[in-house]
Amino acid sequence: PEFSSLALKPALLDNIAALGYTHPTPIQAESLPHILEGNDVIAQAKTGSGKTAAFGIGLLSRLDVGNFKVQAMIICPTRELADQVCKEIRQLARFTHNIKVLALCGGVPVAPQRDSLLHGAHVVVGTPGRLQEHLQKHSLHLEHLKVLVLDEADRMLDMGFADIITDVVSHAPSHRQTLLFSATYSDPIRKLSLSFQFKPVSISI
Ligand code: AMP
Repeated sequence: PEFSSLALKPALLDNIAALGYTHPTPIQAESLPHILEGNDVIAQAKTGSGKTAAFGIGLLSRLDVGNFKVQAMIICPTRELADQVCKEIRQLARFTHNIKVLALCGGVPVAPQRDSLLHGAHVVVGTPGRLQEHLQKHSLHLEHLKVLVLDEADRMLDMGFADIITDVVSHAPSHRQTLLFSATYSDPIRKLSLSFQFKPVSISI
């Protein structure tokens, strides 16, 4: 399907056009209809496939902008990836007023992030350890979370983040949409999907 045939808000369609995205990439064409339906999706997709916009468009469509609570959370293996994801989601949200996207990564002071969280955010993008720290210190609340994204899940497992991710996800409501992106499928990835997802649609390009 073309972007215009998907049930997207006009402002989001304008942003997609402004970014020069004329046609969905294969991963976007395959996954977006399921993501927009609210289904859990497990997708095998590499960097460069357009996976960020796939989940970004999906989660932006589900936000209630008037509710200044964290409604979407993206867990990334590294600070570099989290910063990249943050940037792309901000671009996708550009003409949609007042959507706040916050990066919560390690390696930088916690206090400014805590202050930003106090002011409210719709979307948080972070690395596992720092997200866990904010949850333990009660500076991050996930009661309003609708969409959870695990980006580059295979890399996160390789880096030994399984237990931290399990703890972080335990703070999320069970009624949520969970999107899992991984460059490879393996038994540990299937196990992760089984524990976090409900009847996921499986996509590989
Ligand atoms: P990613 O796989 O998310 O790292 O994205 C790879 C690159 O593709 C990014 O620079 C995006 O800005 C770009 N991109 C994503 N979706 C599209 C699209 N539909 N058309 C053209 N470029 C895109």
